[in-house]
Amino acid sequence: MAKIQMLNAVAELDGDEMTRVLWAVIKEKLLLPFVDLKTEYYDLGLKKRDETDDKITYEAAAAIKRLKVGVKCATITSNAARMEEYKLKRLSPSPNGIIRAELDGTVFRKPIIVSNIHPTVSCWKKPIVLGRHAYGDVYKSCEMAVDGPGKAELVFTGKDGKEIRKTIMEMPGPGILQAVHNLDQSIESFAKACFVYGLSEKTDVWFATKDTISKTYDGKFKEIFQRVFDSGYKDKFKEAGLEYFYTLIDDAVARIMKCDGGILWACKNYDGDVMSDMVASASGSLAMMTSVLVSPDGYFEYEAAHGTVQRHYYKYLKGEKTSTNPVALIFAWTGALSKRAELDGTPELAEFAMKLEKAVVSVIERGTMTGDLARLADPGAKEILDSWAFIDKIAEETAAIL
Ligand code: NAP
Ligand code: MG
Repeated sequence: MAKIQMLNAVAELDGDEMTRVLWAVIKEKLLLPFVDLKTEYYDLGLKKRDETDDKITYEAAAAIKRLKVGVKCATITSNAARMEEYKLKRLSPSPNGIIRAELDGTVFRKPIIVSNIHPTVSCWKKPIVLGRHAYGDVYKSCEMAVDGPGKAELVFTGKDGKEIRKTIMEMPGPGILQAVHNLDQSIESFAKACFVYGLSEKTDVWFATKDTISKTYDGKFKEIFQRVFDSGYKDKFKEAGLEYFYTLIDDAVARIMKCDGGILWACKNYDGDVMSDMVASASGSLAMMTSVLVSPDGYFEYEAAHGTVQRHYYKYLKGEKTSTNPVALIFAWTGALSKRAELDGTPELAEFAMKLEKAVVSVIERGTMTGDLARLADPGAKEILDSWAFIDKIAEETAAIL
């Protein structure tokens, strides 16, 4: 069989531990036999990042900007224990943080749906994608506890020295204070990324805040979202038959519990933190959750939502064939390849990505899976495999479908 050709490369960002091991197996068994794979390879393994003082991470981010599509393996964020374990020169920042800052991105998480892993919320038939604003609010706040009565004020001093002053509270006794902020530009980027994602995935976009109570702060989020939508996306949404829907956060939560899914739920930073864990756990498992970083300029980076699965890696190093779930990693690749296909206008590549995803889903739906899924499956698993045997099954199924 002739291999499927790629017109342009994707940026490939390799990583650490168990996910690095599986990354190589996925390429060998599921990609290289079928596709004439074109990638620009960047080794983001911890050792290499340390050796290059993170230069490699910045180069990888630049490659994603140049090629517009990247696929990333999970990576270790260093801490004191890793410093010792890997004999590092220094503690380096999170590579995801570096890439996010370079691409000005928003993170979208989407569960992979299979029929024998049931969401806890029975009406969810299609995935609910969560888009979390990852800047500001309570994550960059200034807080204070005061131990007696006094006047609390909010003061802004402009560049020209002019002051704006407001009384927060005449405090009658001890209490606590908190000041938070956000930036118009960051909210605009967030809104753009959500609308770009909605169009790209062909889903409606919901956004919610509490602007009835927080008229200025949340009101600004609502206003910017509406302005960005009206000026850049309204017509495209109409053409695609999609909707942008704004409501209050408590109303959104109530509606989410009764909807059948198939939406992008854009959340402010704190709402996104809380709601993404709810949606992830109610949808099944972390190993069945894809994650994509979308920049407002139209760059896409695909990855798995989970980490490097360290506990399994240590077992692997002792010679054990672990039953680590490779599904989210496989879907990171199919996501990147189908985006590449869309940008290049190469339908055979898009079809391959779609069929590989289909192969994964049908193997699991027939009852063959890794240990983590076997604990959740209904009807129960027929066959629990280690990662290597599971990937072999998917390879056979893919070959059969193709
Ligand atoms: P983790 O790698 O997500 O794993 C936590 C636990 O979740 C595992 O021990 C395993 O549970 C289960 N799990 C996660 N993925 C699985 C899979 N594919 N198949 C089966 N089980 C899976 O988180 P961590 O162990 O806390 O973090 C390890 C390293 O990953 C850290 O150094 C952290 O910095 C890094 N990290 C990277 C990213 C990223 O690059 N995007 C994200 C998060 C964490 P059992 O042990 O019960 O089987
Ligand atoms: Mg959290």
